Amino acid sequence: MCRTIAELDAQLTGCRACPRLVAWREQVAHDKRAAFRDENYWGKPVPGLGPDDARVLIIGLAPAAHGGNRTGRMFTGDRAGDFLIAAMYAAGLTNQPTSTHPGDGLRLIDSRMTAPVHCAPPDNKPLPSERDNCRRWLTEELTLLSPTLRSIVVLGGWGWQALLPALAESGWPIPKPKPRFTHAAHYELSPSIPNRSPLHLFGSYHPSQQNTFTGRLTPPMLEAVLTTAARAAGLEPPPA
Ligand code: SF4
Repeated sequence: MCRTIAELDAQLTGCRACPRLVAWREQVAHDKRAAFRDENYWGKPVPGLGPDDARVLIIGLAPAAHGGNRTGRMFTGDRAGDFLIAAMYAAGLTNQPTSTHPGDGLRLIDSRMTAPVHCAPPDNKPLPSERDNCRRWLTEELTLLSPTLRSIVVLGGWGWQALLPALAESGWPIPKPKPRFTHAAHYELSPSIPNRSPLHLFGSYHPSQQNTFTGRLTPPMLEAVLTTAARAAGLEPPPA
């Protein structure tokens, strides 16, 4: 068990527990996409991003091969990241509406982003065994954030299913019937640990191109979920 988020992020970056994903992330980093051929790809597990006293946690699926696996930063350098960061900015959760590369000035405000799987998977589809391998990192992250964490927004049904056992392991048992993923779903989870706060759990469609290009997920839809989650976590609305 890590003692701090910084320690967790550092240890995670050296993880090689999933042979298929280690091979894939390194192969992609070696081959590169033509548009990025002059860049040094990260090619390692991508840690969460944001302060260690975040009140809102946003959970995706896994880093994109030429996004996070290239830049080394969660939701940075791909279209899903562009969409998400713009919505987070509108909800007052970032200091700027874009996320292009480390060092671009992006700062997350009272919020953090992470993923149930920290290495880029082929076709954006981790195996169940890879999801289960990576759960130890998510459980530890939830536990370390628990003193301040009040809201979670899960992007997509896959992340939702991956999160539930990690929540149970980190002190927020899953009620029966199990919370169901839908866009704008909202549940309040009671803690099993004394002095732990309840947790608001929200769902949103994932900002993948499949959803955003088809209009299944629009900027106002994602902004509304993030804004509700921020308010549930006790955060003030951004200045108009
Ligand atoms: Fe480690 Fe998670 Fe990457 Fe598997 S997916 S190698 S458990 S960081």
